[in-house]
Amino acid sequence: MRTVYLNGDYLPETEAKVSIFDRGFVMADGVYEVTSVLGGKLIDFGGHLTRLQRSLDALEMKNPLSAEEWLEVHRQLVARNAVEEGMVYLQVTRGNPGDRDFAYPADDVAPTVVLFTQAKSGLADNPVAKTGIKIITVPDIRWGRRDIKTVQLLYPSMGKMMAKKAGVDDAWLVEDGFVTEGTSNNAYIVKGNKIITRALSSDILHGITRAAVLRFAREAQMEVEERNFTVDEAKAADEAFITSASAFVMPVVEIDGAALGNGKPGPLTARLREIYLDEMRKAAV
Ligand code: PMP
Repeated sequence: MRTVYLNGDYLPETEAKVSIFDRGFVMADGVYEVTSVLGGKLIDFGGHLTRLQRSLDALEMKNPLSAEEWLEVHRQLVARNAVEEGMVYLQVTRGNPGDRDFAYPADDVAPTVVLFTQAKSGLADNPVAKTGIKIITVPDIRWGRRDIKTVQLLYPSMGKMMAKKAGVDDAWLVEDGFVTEGTSNNAYIVKGNKIITRALSSDILHGITRAAVLRFAREAQMEVEERNFTVDEAKAADEAFITSASAFVMPVVEIDGAALGNGKPGPLTARLREIYLDEMRKAAV
């Protein structure tokens, strides 16, 4: 049985209980992060902590732990659960005010802090990286602060189900004719030596993997253009891919039934995945 973390305690997963009045439960009033583990170490941990702070600030929530404490809890869970490859999930909610009320509770209501691990072998050596994923496009009808990483994940979850029902792997979300991002990842197309991805704004989550991948791409003399792109432009691209903390860099080979290029993952995507994994393993903590 897994050991999980709840409000200062390490507990067997069946003993970690949260109140029915918790605002995470009744109002999706919480934020989260997912950090990958490779070789028993945390990938881009600093990036995730920085974004956690940003999400908490946006919702006027205090950070319940210091950077050192966050690292210690992550490391404890990885060690106690002997995770070699997988993820650490963390969530902070506004806690349990003892009742249901739309107004934020007073400052003395303690936040709820939950962390758990998910072991997943084959994250780095994922065979799907060799064949690529297929996606459909669906309207982006999410709220206007997608840059805050909240646990309000119902529409992304519905998008994933629309993809499943269509017999593909995932969905890209489209607003005003332009791709915003994937259900749980950032979206990119490649034309020649140029990588095109939507610029940062409140329209998309500021992916930690996105930041690292674009930095590595520029260092490798690839051209990066941060701008909107349409579904038609994506279908006509040479390559496409997604990034996220657990998928890393993953090729997309089909969009709305149209194969990209020869229908196989492209060379630039493959190279970026390799660089990303090499560099991030070196910097893991
Ligand atoms: N966009 C959305 C909507 C996401 O849910 C995620 C993953 N949480 C990402 C992008 C990718 O972000 P990251 O690289 O930080 O995992």
